Amino acid sequence: MKIGFIGLGNMGAPMARNLVAAGHEVTGYDVAGVTVEGARAAESAAEAARGAEVVITMLPNGQILRAVAEEVIPAMSPGAVLCDCSTVDVESARAVAAQAEAAGLGAVDAPVSGGVGGATAGTLTFMAGGSDEAFAKVAPLFEIMGQKAVHCGPSGNGQAAKICNNMILGVTMIATCEAFALADRLGLERQKLYDVVSTSSGYSWTMNAYTPAPGVGVPSPADNGYKPGFAADLMLKDLRLSQAAAEMVDADTPMGQRATELYARFVEEEGGSGMDFSAMLPRFEKRQRE
Ligand code: NAD
Repeated sequence: MKIGFIGLGNMGAPMARNLVAAGHEVTGYDVAGVTVEGARAAESAAEAARGAEVVITMLPNGQILRAVAEEVIPAMSPGAVLCDCSTVDVESARAVAAQAEAAGLGAVDAPVSGGVGGATAGTLTFMAGGSDEAFAKVAPLFEIMGQKAVHCGPSGNGQAAKICNNMILGVTMIATCEAFALADRLGLERQKLYDVVSTSSGYSWTMNAYTPAPGVGVPSPADNGYKPGFAADLMLKDLRLSQAAAEMVDADTPMGQRATELYARFVEEEGGSGMDFSAMLPRFEKRQRE
């Protein structure tokens, strides 16, 4: 397939590399001049999009996505599909999809989970929104770049699924970390807390698969000085998107709101920027009750 790939950053470059390795004809563009071996390098986003059957974007945010879409949609051929894999606000995803469809194109929003490790290994999970026809066209590419793709409904629903998932993740990580810090003060060993919770009703992905306490549970960023992994900054981005979406549809999300406030403080005032999102545990460890 002829594929245009725009945004060759930490995630985009390995994803594009996997498409090249699978034999697809990839033309890449990144404003920072990054190139991927085996892919043709375009001089502009429009050039990368011209003649492509699928254009994939992997960009920092909704504002940049909207700007790139303005440029690539007029350059794309009728029937081609614009597939955005970035994590952006639901409103931008729906606006870009409407613009693409008005131009006779297909549109899919397909944010991912799995991080740089998943992008490199080709084991990402895609959460997709868009028409059945557009989804069917890009699904074989999801199989190359990932291990699972869920079609979540019409445009914007991929982003909706992503931010709902990550809102749960942020809230659960905080709950897990504050429980470890409470156990410390109560004289309960972390290993004992893990042994109980990981097989009891308080278990969760954060406790069982990403244990935030060093030396306890499975190996995780906690065992590596809280180097990310999944950076607290990216968790804050996703939590803010969840709250923007909640405001848009007037949904009451008190835990998501509190998690957003805590990660904002952690990242912007307490030195959490650049650390894994599980570094909430050493944060709680140092604090007194507010
Ligand atoms: P990144 O900053 O490494 O990559 C973004 C790339 O887009 C950069 O190389 C940048 O130069 C390029 N870019 C910016 N503006 C552009 C433009 N106008 N035209 C062309 N290229 C442009 O970010 P990333 O970690 O690769 O993340 C990309 C997206 O994936 C984000 O939306 C992020 O939230 C999401 N995401 C990231 C992770 C992760 O672990 N890094 C996990 C899941 C989802």
